[in-house]
Amino acid sequence: MIALDDHASGRHFLQIPGPSPVPDRILRAISLPTIDHRGPEFATLGKKVIGGLQQVFQTEHPVVIYPASGTGAWEAALVNVASPGDSLLMYETGHFASLWQKMAQRLGLEPEFLALPGIDETGLPRSWRHGVQADLIEERLRKDGAHRIKAVCVVHNETSTGVTSDIAAVRRAIDAAGHPALLMVDTISGLASADYRHDAWGVDVTVSGSQKGLMLPPGISFNALSPKAIEAARTARLPKAFWAWDEIVEMNKGGYWPCTPSTNLLYGLSEALDMVLEQGLPAVFARHQRWGEGVRTAVRAWGLPTQCADERVHSPVLTGVITPQGVDADALRRLIHERFDLSLGAGLGKLRGRMFRIGHLGDCNDLTLMAALTGVEMGLKLAGVPLAGSGVLAAMAFFAGTPLVDVASRPIE
Ligand SMILES: *Cc1c(COP(=O)(O)O)cnc(C)c1O
Repeated sequence: MIALDDHASGRHFLQIPGPSPVPDRILRAISLPTIDHRGPEFATLGKKVIGGLQQVFQTEHPVVIYPASGTGAWEAALVNVASPGDSLLMYETGHFASLWQKMAQRLGLEPEFLALPGIDETGLPRSWRHGVQADLIEERLRKDGAHRIKAVCVVHNETSTGVTSDIAAVRRAIDAAGHPALLMVDTISGLASADYRHDAWGVDVTVSGSQKGLMLPPGISFNALSPKAIEAARTARLPKAFWAWDEIVEMNKGGYWPCTPSTNLLYGLSEALDMVLEQGLPAVFARHQRWGEGVRTAVRAWGLPTQCADERVHSPVLTGVITPQGVDADALRRLIHERFDLSLGAGLGKLRGRMFRIGHLGDCNDLTLMAALTGVEMGLKLAGVPLAGSGVLAAMAFFAGTPLVDVASRPIE
């Protein structure tokens, strides 16, 4: 019997917005022998990765590394600063914001969930098509005269929708309301892809992870801290042991950890930081911005709406594409996976079956992205979706006609 398979050779196209493809250079670094995590060589590695992460988070303050997925770092952020029954102001931008809110409830906190009300012409919630509205946060904080709200929690790059939020505007809103709440931000999928500035934007805790812009396998995640967050952790009363910042930050000063760190993932992290910092953050951000524009050019040519309904806040990391009413986006994704060995992101939560997501982050380039768009266009045609035109041709013209220097020369904000 001969097994017939359309894709028994070549690399799988992992075009989901995380985990993103891991470059060979990082895979080779991870394959090095595991060393003694209390030995002298280890301290060099430990100090290097923490210093490199500080550059990527754009902070001078401690960054804590956990051997956990991003969800662990979410929990760490909450349990370090909150006490039982504390109120939080969280903002509904999509599925990941919703999961963080649910976690806060499970931890015995009282998260209030702000959202832009209503459903729009696509039948989808407006709040899942726009970024955080800082004025709603300011308005709510002004009503909290007793300062019961402990922290404002927002997602910077909402991976379920492809919408980013203006974090500096959220900080301005908190300050304008004269409110002492901490600002906690999830940029699990934004770090090392979209511009992010922990110190300059006045963020108290930033949560991130390894398997998105940093191009690592899943398995480690981060909390970047501010002096105010460290101070809050001293008196916060939710139980914390494994996640507690104090012991980790103390031992990190020497380049070590209280428990066994993920040594081989730290080798990978060291390599990833070299790659990102050698190129320079502005170049990395411009590269992602350009891919995002190229993919949106294709989506526009197909005549399909993007999940993000606000031109100013399209994610440079991924693009959500809404399928026409009656077209099951999950069936479309299955077809594309079976025929072309291409994985696309699913519609999550309230978007299930209504949209799919194209990741354009990390170890990507014009031609891998063109191939992915070709797979999507072939799939859309096979699924009988009427298209206004060829997204592939439009994206080819975009990529050929838009050198990176053109994008990099524009101001980021
Ligand atoms: C991926 C992701 C998470 C969850 O991280 P895990 O590593 O899957 O635990 C949370 N928030 C955002 C914005 C994400 O992209």
